[in-house]
Amino acid sequence: MQFIDLKAQQRRIRQKLEQRILGVLDHGAYILGDEVQELETKLAEFSGAKYCVTCANGTDALSLALTALGIGEGDAVFVPSFTFAATAEVVPETLATPIFVDVDPRSYNLRLDSLVRCIEYAGSIGLRPRAVIPVDLFGLPADYPQIEEIAKLYDLHVVADSAQGFGASISAKRSGCFGDVTTTSFFPAKPLGCYGDGGALFTDDEELKDKLESLRFHGKGAEKYDNVRIGRNSRLDTIQAAVLLEKLEIYDSEIAAREAIAAQYTALLSDHFQTPSIPRNYRSVFAQYTLQTESSDKRTHCMKALSDAKIPSVVYYPKPLHQQTAYREFPRDPEGLQNSEAVSGRVFSIPMHPYLTQDDIERIAKVLTVSADKFNNHV
Ligand SMILES: *Cc1c(COP(=O)(O)O)cnc(C)c1O
Repeated sequence: MQFIDLKAQQRRIRQKLEQRILGVLDHGAYILGDEVQELETKLAEFSGAKYCVTCANGTDALSLALTALGIGEGDAVFVPSFTFAATAEVVPETLATPIFVDVDPRSYNLRLDSLVRCIEYAGSIGLRPRAVIPVDLFGLPADYPQIEEIAKLYDLHVVADSAQGFGASISAKRSGCFGDVTTTSFFPAKPLGCYGDGGALFTDDEELKDKLESLRFHGKGAEKYDNVRIGRNSRLDTIQAAVLLEKLEIYDSEIAAREAIAAQYTALLSDHFQTPSIPRNYRSVFAQYTLQTESSDKRTHCMKALSDAKIPSVVYYPKPLHQQTAYREFPRDPEGLQNSEAVSGRVFSIPMHPYLTQDDIERIAKVLTVSADKFNNHV
């Protein structure tokens, strides 16, 4: 059994993928070929954002967003501690300081009280609060309505890290319409992935869009050899755009399949584990289906039972960023990051992709409930 079965998806659209890729081989415009523009138009339409700018990967998307917003030395950027390293890694690169914010133990997303404490704290250590990077962890949108209120109050930019959440929504608003700018990743294992690295940014702000297009292409001005700002090379390959155009065609149906599988998992597992809680009017794309146990020992026990049954499971993430060697010197919520520390010891993710079979789902749930009962009877 696969943790994420990309082969099953490929079997579904193999012929169309081949045609698209062969199309690129025929015209030969490997950098910024027509497929890239076509994809940007379709992604913008899909998300509801006015503009989409593709780039080389999801980390660059975050980094380009911070640069375009003018974040730099002396600035504080608020990031959750319970996330993938890329969210925080882009901040010191701009010479700004990341400040680690705690998360909610049910949604795993940024906590508002912790965010406000961190904003107040930044001022007291001589930093200018400039931006917050909420993460749509495991595919669930962060609490943008409230975060945007706080951001307005403190004059912060909101950069939504939707690397795991593209396609998710709050009411009628889809990922891409959150914050000043939304970023995403097309890394193969993300809900919408290509066959290599890829990323994109979404915004309604035309000026910001123009800046991003310039920054990803060596700071170009009106023409290629006219450099109006210091940029970089961060473009999405035409072949990857071609792959994404075909994958986007089936993405809505894949999101529906993910939701249906998650609902089944939850029905079978919620008596034994803390299952994902999706707030009303929110839709998750279930980049991961993550369970939480009452203790680390129970997690170890249940993951061992899965492994014995040849079912893969993974801990996202075993150590919060503020405890990582690379990040432990940076400031954090002065009241501590108790939830980030607690959940990293108790969460684990089980196979989740649109092509899981009924048999797989039932077998996984059976192994898990039996092992949870066994654990509970021995303690
Ligand atoms: C994957 C991921 C990124 C980075 O995306 P890449 O395309 O791998 O650079 C950023 N943030 C989060 C939360 C991610 O999961």
